[in-house]
Amino acid sequence: MRHDAIRLLWPGRCLACAAPGENGRDLCAACRAALPWHGPACERCALPLPAPNPAETALCGTCLQRPPPLAQTHAACTYRAPLDRLLPRFKFHHDLAAGRLLSQMMVEAFSPLSRPDALIPIPLHRARLRRRGYDQALELARPLADALAIPLLDDALLRPRATAPQSRLDAAGRQRNLRGAFTVRPGADLPAHVVLVDDVMTTGATLHAAAIVLRRAGAARVDAWVAARVP
Ligand SMILES: [Zn+2]
Ligand SMILES: [Zn+2]
Repeated sequence: MRHDAIRLLWPGRCLACAAPGENGRDLCAACRAALPWHGPACERCALPLPAPNPAETALCGTCLQRPPPLAQTHAACTYRAPLDRLLPRFKFHHDLAAGRLLSQMMVEAFSPLSRPDALIPIPLHRARLRRRGYDQALELARPLADALAIPLLDDALLRPRATAPQSRLDAAGRQRNLRGAFTVRPGADLPAHVVLVDDVMTTGATLHAAAIVLRRAGAARVDAWVAARVP
């Protein structure tokens, strides 16, 4: 209903360039054709790799040496234009139409993947949720769960500790910042294979911290699906 209302108020303008949208949608044909879909990448961390060699497993050097807590990571797009405009608008400027478009891209990119038992959006701390008014990972995960018919588990992973914004920290600082940030709700019944959903992956520190507590709480396999990967 809310989406219909947005559509009536703003009938299909391209969110990337403001030209008329294709068939009343939120993207024009040119921007749609130029979307930076994520190419060949490391299976575990989604870091772009040179063209895949079918004889070898698709892992980057870092993941070969030190396997991360995520079994697989998939990104819909590489973080460059127009993602560098769409994602901040969605995250910091309350542009839910941009969020809807990002979620549609994720549906398109991830529908060929095998289905996990549940999707778990990366939660926000209560204080930040109050300030922002919505949880961007949940806004992406909900339509994705609907479209791909995967159960949404949005009350198992908790974020009891407020953390500084990751964007201001270096890689080591990001890791330190997230110590103790996540917990699993006592009594939560985690299925074997869960997928974490987030908007963007930079170093992966947030996703790794969440994956570690889920694994400790009994999830056998944790993957990540993100809208965009920073190369
Ligand atoms: Zn456009
Ligand atoms: Zn890797």
